Amino acid sequence: MFSALRKGLVYNNVSSDIVDHDLDNDVDLWSYDGKDVYRGSLDSEYLSHGLNVYWLYDDNSLRVGLAEHESDSPEVFKALWFYENPFATLLQDPRWKPSRTLWSMLANEAYQDCLENDFKNVTELALESGYLLVTPKMLIQKPVLYTCENCGKKSLKQENICSTAKASDFLFSDYSILFLDDDFVIYDKPTETQPQLDASLQEQQEQTQTELQAGLQVSKDAETPLVELEEHPPHHPQQSICQQQSDVPEQMPEQSEDAK
Ligand SMILES: [Zn+2]
Repeated sequence: MFSALRKGLVYNNVSSDIVDHDLDNDVDLWSYDGKDVYRGSLDSEYLSHGLNVYWLYDDNSLRVGLAEHESDSPEVFKALWFYENPFATLLQDPRWKPSRTLWSMLANEAYQDCLENDFKNVTELALESGYLLVTPKMLIQKPVLYTCENCGKKSLKQENICSTAKASDFLFSDYSILFLDDDFVIYDKPTETQPQLDASLQEQQEQTQTELQAGLQVSKDAETPLVELEEHPPHHPQQSICQQQSDVPEQMPEQSEDAK
């Protein structure tokens, strides 16, 4: 999921498994966004970003999200949550919903083509039909388009195309976009303006963003999460944090000595 406090920072470890440094540690009950959660110890991996990051757990020690605090000003923080699907989690918007499978959109012949190739060339077949299948990964890192001038084939993977193919910048606006997860399920983008998507794309892919705005019809006046945080604090940081205990964040155990 995209960090709300740092441009370009993505939290990739989003399984519900407890992280190593929280094993065998005592956890305290905290309240973030009105949810009571158990907070693990400081994850030192993100200190280099100037962030104090703590993973959050439910009653069953399942990881449900994280809290990122400014190291210099711990009262400035944002809680991020795991949602049911990768788009909702990445973009921190639970309105992203799975709608149908890709197969339900395909003619029988097209499906057979995919099947014959063990579903390894689905992206390429879609490109030929003018569709770009956008995965969560591609929202994090803009894909490279390989085009062969000799035969006209296009691919996102160099190994899937002729050796003569050349890499080029991707123009999202050239394609109809379908949001797809690794199981070929298509997701519907929330119909309302989604500042998070817009901002995330802007942060991750400055150049691509304009094209995507066109392609996705994302409102141009959307705010970035940081602006949103400053201008419309949705979580009332001072009040919602520390309800369960009076410690200020930097006085939490800095690092577990029992880890590992
Ligand atoms: Zn070729």
